[in-house]
Amino acid sequence: MQRTKIILPEDRIPKQWYNIIPDLNGPMAPVVHPGTLQPVTPDDLLPLFPMGLIEQEVSTQRWIDIPDEVRQILAQWRPSPMFRAHRLEKALGTPAKIYYKYEGVSPAGSHKPNTAVPQAYYNMLAGTKRIASETGAGQWGSSIALACQMFGLECTVYMVKVSFQQKPYRKSMMQLWGADVIPSPSNQTNAGRAVLERDQDSNGSLGIAISEAVEDAATHEDTRYCLGSVLNHVCLHQTVIGLEAKQQMDMIGDYPDVVIACHGGGSNFAGLGFPFVADKAAGKDLRILAAEPISCPTLTKGVYDFDYGDQAKMAPISKMYTLGHDFMPPGIHAGGLRYHGAAPLVSQLLDEGVIEAKAVGQVECFEAAVQFARAEGIIPAPESSHAIRAAFDEALQAKEEGKEKTILFNLSGHGHVDMASYDAFFSGKLENYEYPSEAIEESLEKLPKVDM
Ligand SMILES: *Cc1c(COP(=O)(O)O)cnc(C)c1O
Repeated sequence: MQRTKIILPEDRIPKQWYNIIPDLNGPMAPVVHPGTLQPVTPDDLLPLFPMGLIEQEVSTQRWIDIPDEVRQILAQWRPSPMFRAHRLEKALGTPAKIYYKYEGVSPAGSHKPNTAVPQAYYNMLAGTKRIASETGAGQWGSSIALACQMFGLECTVYMVKVSFQQKPYRKSMMQLWGADVIPSPSNQTNAGRAVLERDQDSNGSLGIAISEAVEDAATHEDTRYCLGSVLNHVCLHQTVIGLEAKQQMDMIGDYPDVVIACHGGGSNFAGLGFPFVADKAAGKDLRILAAEPISCPTLTKGVYDFDYGDQAKMAPISKMYTLGHDFMPPGIHAGGLRYHGAAPLVSQLLDEGVIEAKAVGQVECFEAAVQFARAEGIIPAPESSHAIRAAFDEALQAKEEGKEKTILFNLSGHGHVDMASYDAFFSGKLENYEYPSEAIEESLEKLPKVDM
């Protein structure tokens, strides 16, 4: 047996998203206004988000209907396939069973369209004309460009300048799907101009690009903002991954001992993991593990405290694991994992001890990605390679202990547009950055003083 493909018929796309909020052990910390340092009200958020998404952000309803129009678009690539990796198991010589859910089948090549589509949909309903957003490596930018195209919205993407220069093909994808792509920091916003005044040659960062997009949306009546990760409604939309995965596991008569996903802002981890957290809460015995880079170790080395979502302190303040909004992570190849914060929902689950996190180095991740591609054929995104590494470690531990184990991980995207990173790996130019403890300490001194 080479590889078992576990596919669901199209009518098994979930009809509802799973909202984990009612199943948390404790209440969520409030989201705080960056200006007043008081809890935000839904009205505060209206310049940025349509009411449909604000309602989801604060909803305490466990199941939320997926609109038909959204499901029809998701059906272009969902349900996504799950595979049992027999060849990989053999290559690793492990008694463990390894399953992975593959999200690289979407048009943009990652899980991100799962939320880009409903975000564009609720904006279309609310009469939004244009979306302003940001992108680091370009995965989110291409996903929101695609979704805007599907609902007839205009789209402006502020792209971190160093990626704009180094990832020309993601920029081309965004342009192909009709977006206007602006290198950030730009002189189109106050936030961008302020950075350029200090440093004309700034490479930009995700935090700066978020500030620019938020400012653009807040200062234009017909424009709203979209975020590709972190927020509750984004985690909600991604739960289609785990809901399908549970059906697929069921179909093959198996169940995971450990569920793994990489972690940048937390959305693909939430997507696969939250429906399994619900099982765990109901008494199932399993582990749910987030894998992050050593160079941006938000969950393993950050603090659980209130912090701004962006560098310019314009975005709302949330209680989350954070390295500080000023933290500038090293330029690792998994651009999508370079965020200083984490989803408040994931953070709370980690704080409550419901889920676990571990940090892995990029060289060992690429080694795992190459071995994976040679066994399974699929070329993983550098971000996804962190989940692969963590899955390998579990499989190798099972081998050492001579124990059976069932591992399920999320392959969040393919790496077809990231081949420059593989080139760097093969030519020996990829390095393992140390854990940047001093930069983190310095950055953590600048957390807002929220008294709640
Ligand atoms: C953006 C991205 C990630 C990281 O984002 P999360 O919100 O943590 O899921 C992971 N994998 C891929 C392929 C991505 O594009």
